[in-house]
Amino acid sequence: MTSLTHGRHYLAIPGPSVMPDRVLQAMHRPSPNIYEGELIEITETLPADLKAMARTKHHVAMYIGNGHAAWEAALFNTLSAGDEVIVIMTGLFANGWADMAKAMGVTAHVLDFGRRSSFDPARVAEALAATPQAKAVLMVHVDTSTSVKNDVSAVRALMDEADSNALLMADCIASFGCDDFRMDAWGVDVMVAGCQKGLMVPAGMSFVFYSDKADNIRETNGCLSRYWDWRPRTNPEFFYLHWCGTAPTHHIYGLREALDMINEEGYENVLARHRLLAEAVWAAFECWSQDGPLELNIADRTLRSHAVTTLRTGAPHATTLRNWVSGNAGLTLGIGLGMATEDDPKSDGFFRVGHMGHVNAQMILGALGTIQTGLVATGLPHGDGALDAATRVLAGQG
Ligand SMILES: *Cc1c(COP(=O)(O)O)cnc(C)c1O
Repeated sequence: MTSLTHGRHYLAIPGPSVMPDRVLQAMHRPSPNIYEGELIEITETLPADLKAMARTKHHVAMYIGNGHAAWEAALFNTLSAGDEVIVIMTGLFANGWADMAKAMGVTAHVLDFGRRSSFDPARVAEALAATPQAKAVLMVHVDTSTSVKNDVSAVRALMDEADSNALLMADCIASFGCDDFRMDAWGVDVMVAGCQKGLMVPAGMSFVFYSDKADNIRETNGCLSRYWDWRPRTNPEFFYLHWCGTAPTHHIYGLREALDMINEEGYENVLARHRLLAEAVWAAFECWSQDGPLELNIADRTLRSHAVTTLRTGAPHATTLRNWVSGNAGLTLGIGLGMATEDDPKSDGFFRVGHMGHVNAQMILGALGTIQTGLVATGLPHGDGALDAATRVLAGQG
């Protein structure tokens, strides 16, 4: 068969996301002076823009590392061995964060709400009542494996009702820049984010936002790690302390450019674009699901993320479809994650579409049209009208 892969490849996975040419070009330069000048000036502009996106007046520490680094940093500043935490698990990622806490000697009470829904408030309330000594509640805003979006402010309300003094800690690595998040209004004490998803920069930088309350706990906790300590990174006596060493020179240029792009578009418009593109993706999959094995993992639209969509097909159809679109049409879709172990053949029954960051209507329609082509080519039964439904959403007639 004639190959249709020769053109610009589209990586539609939930991170790393598509990098804008402007970001790539901003990074394409020789190393700058790390002692004085532009690099230092640019670095000092980053926290204000990041905090505006997190909707917080509090603090942000920047790290050279991926999301896992921010997870560990958040834990090391606020917890010690012997502490207890409650973990709200609605997919793979909360468990990853909990495992990191356990490795520090923290006892994690993991509430597992399965793979297809958000949390049950009654069970969270029960856990808060049963564990008044909990130092923190850990949750994921958007779980990238299940594509569920959790109501973070509802957890704060439950904690207030329970008179809980614990810190509320949220993982926004997938949602930052895509789904609205309001750190201060929602009473979040610690929030972690990365740069390679909604922020459109290659993996390698991450962020921990923290409240005054969390910083006071860092004071008594006496952060056990020099490297992860958020204090010197936020208010460094010398520039190199921002990073505890050499600055991530090129990431700083890339991130500055990405934040400029977000500011030029306007953050509210960025969020509205992600919502509309997500609704177009859902509209298409809802039509395909009318016949055959395809199914959206999260049935309730109000619980779906605007950054990523998880699909179920039954094995081996998801892998067959992914292989077809990548091998024949230049589109890479995300693998299923956290639904079945990798060696379990059932894992071939899930895939994900990333629609985070630098994506526009023609990219999403291209991806959906390519998926439709893959469904036809691989003979997977599916309902009709998906592309019509998606175009109606994007035409404002959805
Ligand atoms: C991607 C992701 C992570 C892990 O980030 P890495 O950069 O891969 O370490 C953690 N949590 C969520 C919700 C994510 O989407």
